[in-house]
Amino acid sequence: MDLDRLIQDRIRDVSDYPKPGVLFKDITPLLADHVAFAGVVDTVVNHHGRGTVDKIVGIEARGFILAAPVAYHMGAGFVPVRKKGKLPAATFEQDYELEYGTETIEMHTDAFEPGDRVLIVDDVLATGGTARAAAELVRRGGGDVVGLSVLMELSFLNGRDKLDGLDVHALVTV
Ligand code: IMP
Repeated sequence: MDLDRLIQDRIRDVSDYPKPGVLFKDITPLLADHVAFAGVVDTVVNHHGRGTVDKIVGIEARGFILAAPVAYHMGAGFVPVRKKGKLPAATFEQDYELEYGTETIEMHTDAFEPGDRVLIVDDVLATGGTARAAAELVRRGGGDVVGLSVLMELSFLNGRDKLDGLDVHALVTV
């Protein structure tokens, strides 16, 4: 099986999660397959190129799983964006609308050096609210957002339209 098909094959549809009417894309089978997992990380790293960014921002929680190995292989630092109340030091916070509710995310105010080139990594781009809020946090922290890499883009939700022309790289588009 080629990598694209393997990746698609290892993403499972779960109906009515986290609430009725939502079709949730579950990446746990992909993470459990070392060939698929490594293929995803390698594809993101090769798309951007090692040494092209200073920091990788991962979004809690599934974004962390992808962003950390990407940071390691790109030779970049890792910066967590977390749900409100989880980070210990001074933070910026950003509210946003989620596909299913409202959320607040935070990032440490001292996460970046001025002008750091930052790639945001997450598992799924749905309505774009999370990615837009993360990009706003990066800008407030003095970073320069060079792009967003996601494993899967749910293009029917038009998340890209919220991202003001940000360079979006998706491995799988639904
Ligand atoms: P958005 O803010 O609507 O773009 O939603 C994206 C965020 O919600 C990401 O951080 C995802 O982890 C999560 N998310 C939304 N839909 C799904 C899904 O179908 N599978 C996994 N995560 C999802």
